[in-house]
Amino acid sequence: MTELPHPATGQPFPSPVPPGTGWPGDPATPETPVARTAAQVRRLAAGATLAVLDAEISVCRACPRLVRWREDVAVAKRASFAGQPYWGRPIPGWGSTTPGVLIVGLAPAAHGGNRTGRVFTGDRSGDWLFASLHRVGLATQPTSVDATDGLELIDTRMVATVRCAPPKNKPTTAERDTCAPWIEAELGLLVEHVRVVVALGSIGWAATLRTFRGMGWQVPVPKPRFGHGAEAVLTGAGRQVTLLGCYHPSQQNTFTGKLTEPMLDAVLGRAAALR
Ligand code: SF4
Repeated sequence: MTELPHPATGQPFPSPVPPGTGWPGDPATPETPVARTAAQVRRLAAGATLAVLDAEISVCRACPRLVRWREDVAVAKRASFAGQPYWGRPIPGWGSTTPGVLIVGLAPAAHGGNRTGRVFTGDRSGDWLFASLHRVGLATQPTSVDATDGLELIDTRMVATVRCAPPKNKPTTAERDTCAPWIEAELGLLVEHVRVVVALGSIGWAATLRTFRGMGWQVPVPKPRFGHGAEAVLTGAGRQVTLLGCYHPSQQNTFTGKLTEPMLDAVLGRAAALR
């Protein structure tokens, strides 16, 4: 298997990257248990600490179609990244371990997170998102290049609803359900700190409502509808969390003007103010 140099470290890696071989930010080791079925995802997610959860997510192989796709993309690569190794594995959550703000996206991009190993890092959606997070005071830098770029989120964590890059950015319902225990376990570990959840797109919005309801929280009835700037208050464990809707900063939305920088800043600024 061909090994290519990491663009920042120069260390050679194969694509996809085996766990525990020195990739910057890799939470796993060769001994990290691998979930190969939905039942194994549920079993491993239950009771894990955040660090263990990150590691287990990063080696998960429970969705055969997504495993094949993410690894095929990692081998074929986009021409502009042909000289780089690709992570080619699931993307764990990233950022603060005690976040006031949780950002919930859909899934990693084939040549973004699936290449760099960090959520929203190295693609055009991330360019928009991190620039805005920096403007509203939730990120230390406006750009996100790779896991060695020094960027830190401020009181903020990002997760994807589905942790593997899907073909055409569309996971199936079965894949979404198979992956759900990972985000349920992660939110369960974080929820005592979280004051605001920003859902990027309707799938993240629905996943957030489903996850809070599954934890026994009260969700408004009828179910709040997703929209840019939509807000809903979720109640549980003697406290409240505000859910904010935000159009996903995909090129489909940013190229067409459906989402502008002021629109993105307004929602993320509201999250920063509420935390
Ligand atoms: Fe595992 Fe989720 Fe990836 Fe499926 S989508 S293989 S459950 S990490």
